[in-house]
Amino acid sequence: MKAEIISIGSELTSGQNLDTNGQWLSRALAELGIIVGYHTTVSDQRDDHIGVLRTAINRAQLIIMTGGLGPTQDDLTREVIAHVAGVPLVEDPASLVHIQELFRSRNREMPERNRVQAFHPEGADVVRNARGTAPGIWMRIGQSVVVALPGVPSEMISMFHEEVRPRLIAAGLGGQNLFVQRKINTFGTGESAIEEQLLDLTRRDHVPEVGITVSDAVISLRILARGKDQSEVENQIAPVERKIRERLGSLVYGFEHEELQDVVMHLLMNRGQTVATAESLTAGLVSHRLAMIPGASAHLKGGVVAYMNEIKIRELGIPTEVIDKHSAVSAEVAQLMAENVRQRFQSDWGVATTGYAGPSGGGDGTPPGTVYVAVASACGTRVQQYTWGGTRMEIQSRTAKLALNLLRLELLAVNPNTAQ
Ligand code: AMP
Ligand code: MG
Repeated sequence: MKAEIISIGSELTSGQNLDTNGQWLSRALAELGIIVGYHTTVSDQRDDHIGVLRTAINRAQLIIMTGGLGPTQDDLTREVIAHVAGVPLVEDPASLVHIQELFRSRNREMPERNRVQAFHPEGADVVRNARGTAPGIWMRIGQSVVVALPGVPSEMISMFHEEVRPRLIAAGLGGQNLFVQRKINTFGTGESAIEEQLLDLTRRDHVPEVGITVSDAVISLRILARGKDQSEVENQIAPVERKIRERLGSLVYGFEHEELQDVVMHLLMNRGQTVATAESLTAGLVSHRLAMIPGASAHLKGGVVAYMNEIKIRELGIPTEVIDKHSAVSAEVAQLMAENVRQRFQSDWGVATTGYAGPSGGGDGTPPGTVYVAVASACGTRVQQYTWGGTRMEIQSRTAKLALNLLRLELLAVNPNTAQ
């Protein structure tokens, strides 16, 4: 059994956009044990679509197409599947209601053109799209199953998880072997320091395989297991995961796609506590990341982007003498920034960042990448110094992580009842 992915759109063949859907789908199918034999990318030309789909049906048993399900004239996927299957397009009343409802919920009139999105090839099943107007298509043509999904990656991904994946498994299209990955995310130490504690697990012939990857100062461990069914892979993964968590302790902050801000915001939510930020080096990145989490409005009070010393003095009440004596990039200033923003915003927690984003460092010879983060609560203030390498953007991003991680560790360490 072989699968083919067809990515549709002139923006892809012209080189304007990269086909990330093909990459994502190939990984998702590999996890189901389905081998992808072909990636095809085609422009928005009707005859080319037809040719590509016919070729795919002759050589693959599963074909997943993305793109071309929009309401405009260059969106041809519905029509092309119907043509190749030799059936007419028919309107699906439930899809029409869904599209109309979506426009109503956004307080907009449905343009007549969107009605075409409620059509699908006769005999096909509709793949529900909870996030957008374009329903997908699931249809058997000859010996192949043809699935069409929208091009918008977020819609494609959620439809694959919610609708397509279960159907592939139910239809027995999954491969012999299930392939499952568990990702464990850590922050706070280097790759080799992590590996040193896990040498017995990361050796090449270990089953299940354990790999280490680094991305923007987050070190992730991936456990890769293969097995006949879910319980077999779980039995391989669980003991290894337990060992990793035991050995790495609080360096582990989350799993899979979890970011530090997810974990911090959930800790704040569980405790009903609030945070305020005073950011120099990161210029709002810490509060921006916290605000990415739904429900942040009850826990993120706000912040001050205190980039110039003038603002640190006027808006955060940092004494000029402290800046003169220690410089704005110092543990003393970071501490006062965190404490003062906490006091001024009347929040449970105050977080501060200051440092040199580069390419130059301090006039006194302090190297670029030197940063301080501070976290203040009713139980006191903790300051952490670090020296990063990298570009300005990397230093800012990693310092925001350093601050969020310090807040996470403090949230875990400080008794919520005494921090009020
Ligand atoms: P469409 O469903 O063809 O109207 O595509 C809608 C949008 O989804 C396009 O404008 C692209 O931004 C995006 N898109 C389409 N196909 C892909 C793809 N293969 N990879 C990444 N993004 C895509
Ligand atoms: Mg398109």
